[in-house]
Amino acid sequence: MSIRQILHFPDPRLRRQANPVLQVNDSIRRLLDDMAETMYQAPGIGLAAIQINEPWRIIVIDISPTRDQLQVFINPEILSREGEQELEEGCLSVPGIYEPVTRARRIRVRALNRDGEVIEFEAEDLLATCIQHEIDHLDGKVFVDYLSRLKQTRIRKKLEKRGREQGPKSPTSEYAIGHESTAAAAGRKHLKI
Ligand SMILES: [Zn+2]
Repeated sequence: MSIRQILHFPDPRLRRQANPVLQVNDSIRRLLDDMAETMYQAPGIGLAAIQINEPWRIIVIDISPTRDQLQVFINPEILSREGEQELEEGCLSVPGIYEPVTRARRIRVRALNRDGEVIEFEAEDLLATCIQHEIDHLDGKVFVDYLSRLKQTRIRKKLEKRGREQGPKSPTSEYAIGHESTAAAAGRKHLKI
C-alpha cells in the first residue's frame, strides 16, 4: 500500500470522465488499498480514484467516527433519488474550502464490491451526500461547480495562488493546510470528501 498524491482543483485532470472497471482483479484491489490509505492519511471521509489521477469508477468512503468502517464501491450508479438536504461539504481536492451543497437525502445505489459482486442498497443523510459527491468526481465534477460563479472564481484564484506558493510538489505542506484531527474530519462540521 502507498499514499498517493491528491490532485487539487483546478487541475484539469479532475475533469476527466472515469472509465468503468471491467474486471475486479488484484490490481484494482491494490488501487483500493492505496485509495483507503490515502483517504485515512489525508484525513478525509471519502475519495474517488480520479482524485489520485486514476481514471476508474471507484470510490472509498468511511464516515464512521472510529475510522474502521471502510466502504468500497466500484462502478457505483444511483438508481433513484428522494428528498433534499443541504450539508456543508469540503473536498480533499479543494483544501480549506467548505460550502453548503443541496443534494438528494436518500438514494438507492448499485455497485460492485471488492470481490466484484453486485450490491444494491439505500443510503441516506451523510452517506447519501458522500456517495453523490464521489460519483460527481467520476463524472469530472467538483462540488464547487454547484456554487455561484463569483465564489467559483474566488476559490480558483485562492487555490492557484496557494499552488504557486507551494511549488509543484509538496504533499506535506498541502496536507498541512486546513489540517484537522481525524475526529473532526469524520464529524459533520467539516466534511472532506
Ligand atoms: Zn471531493
